[in-house]
Amino acid sequence: SEEKSLNFIEEIVENDLNSGKYETLVTRFPPEPNGYLHIGHAKAICLNFGLTQKYGGYTNLRFDDTNPVTEKTEYVNSQQEDIKWLGFNWKNELYASDYFDELYGFAVKLIEKGLAYVDESTADEIAALKGTPTEPGQDSPYRNRSVEENLSVFTKMKDGEFADGTYILRAKIDMASPNMLMRDPIIYRIKHAEHHRTGNKWCIYPMYDFAHGQSDSIENITHSICTLEYVSHRELYDWFIEKLEIFPSKQYEFARLNLTSTVMSKRKLLQLVNEKLVSGWDDPRMPTISGLRRRGFTPKSIREFCERIGIAKRENLIELSLLEFCIREDLNKSANRVMAVLDPIKLVINNYPEGQSEDLIGENNPEAEDGGGTRIIPFSNELWIEREDFMEVPAKKWFRLAPGAMVRLKFAYIVKCEDFVKDENGNVTEIRCTYIPESKSGNDTSGINVKGTIHWVSAQHAKTAEIRLYERLFTSETPDAEEGDFKDYLNPESLTVLPNVYIEPALADADLESRYQFIRKGYFCLDKDSTADKLVFNRTVTLKDTFKK
Ligand code: ATP
Ligand code: MG
Ligand code: MG
Repeated sequence: SEEKSLNFIEEIVENDLNSGKYETLVTRFPPEPNGYLHIGHAKAICLNFGLTQKYGGYTNLRFDDTNPVTEKTEYVNSQQEDIKWLGFNWKNELYASDYFDELYGFAVKLIEKGLAYVDESTADEIAALKGTPTEPGQDSPYRNRSVEENLSVFTKMKDGEFADGTYILRAKIDMASPNMLMRDPIIYRIKHAEHHRTGNKWCIYPMYDFAHGQSDSIENITHSICTLEYVSHRELYDWFIEKLEIFPSKQYEFARLNLTSTVMSKRKLLQLVNEKLVSGWDDPRMPTISGLRRRGFTPKSIREFCERIGIAKRENLIELSLLEFCIREDLNKSANRVMAVLDPIKLVINNYPEGQSEDLIGENNPEAEDGGGTRIIPFSNELWIEREDFMEVPAKKWFRLAPGAMVRLKFAYIVKCEDFVKDENGNVTEIRCTYIPESKSGNDTSGINVKGTIHWVSAQHAKTAEIRLYERLFTSETPDAEEGDFKDYLNPESLTVLPNVYIEPALADADLESRYQFIRKGYFCLDKDSTADKLVFNRTVTLKDTFKK
């Protein structure tokens, strides 16, 4: 069998386990609960959970909830639901906010070691002394105050004696470091804000860089995997761990997922939601996991996508059509085939008795091993077919309906077009056919060969449904990189609603988990907006593959 080559993180992990550096692999997925998870997060989820599935050990879910202003319990819940739906189970559910006491203790320890100080400079004054990437910064006038004074002011900060923005705590590192992040970074700020878990207990909150690595260390995370933007943070990550003399978690960086024709930052997705440019976080056009789920994507297709894009050390841009390729592959094998007529026109069979009907048997899925079972499809003398399957004046090589032409009705009979009816505007309103009784599918003794097969539904038996068709959410392949606002590049035609589509009666039993191929029209799933009176289907993806391999 073909061995897949290891990605660079798997190589590191294998080496660390083989050398005995660690006995047990411990990873974490650390979302900030400030929005719904998106397909980029899926890449990080598959990587972190995938490693411990492969090498043993375990993965924690840690909410990186150190910024009280943007975080909500709604997001905590949706993030958990999405990870579980993707098929992963965490060992421990943890919150960085549960470490606030410990993190405060770490800050005190740094002060006591002479490695942190309180600064009351304004933001502008701090910026002015920060230097530039090519010029060193200068020391703050408060840099050398005593340990006692630092401890006393920091305690007062914690006790709520100061207003927001008046004091900060900074690490005392090196104002001349070539790494700007090492120039006495801020580690605590005052923020009188209610936190989604700790309420009003705290009015000082640790900065990301002071919380993240220490949280990893508290949890004995062996490999802390993050995206490339954090390469320059690694020096600081290691510095805190070294000075605090705590468990040495190690940070490794991989290239984030960038995907064409969409945006992938929670902040931007939140703008689309807040400005009602989409129906919500789970709008089927959104790159969120909940949006993809509602659109009809399967967990398997998303995991397969993450597997195919791989783990690299350099940024790249992945085509959205690869994601569509993955869901098409999965649904081709698993989705039942059914018939729905999106743009209906009436077909009347002259020689089939009016008022009579018969039950035909349809195979659900020719790709499935057992054919996926069968279902009953009622047939009668009046059917709906697609308007586009008839041409009054047929083009060359037209194998569908036209005056005098024959076509097979899927699962049913061969029909011949005898006549058609037009309204006063010249639009065709009805097609009249005769059927060949000996041509029944599976039992055809007619000896007639036709090239075309079309889908249909029986008019008296059909149910109606609303169908929602989706296109790319953005007209630009790279809306983030365009001039002006990314929202200027929203595709006004990203949603088309067909209010009155005719579907097979068997589809009345559809549930939210079912996936269908509407023959010749694409893959569809039921939408949660459906009611007993009104079914709504989303098109997950068309049948045509635009992905260039
Ligand atoms: P966003 O700006 O979209 O909110 P984030 O990195 O701020 O992204 P977090 O909630 O902090 O969001 O992310 C949790 C984890 O998911 C992090 O470890 C982060 O590296 C990873 N992640 C986020 N976006 C991507 C992406 N596009 N590709 C791969 N991993 C990602
Ligand atoms: Mg983040
Ligand atoms: Mg973010």
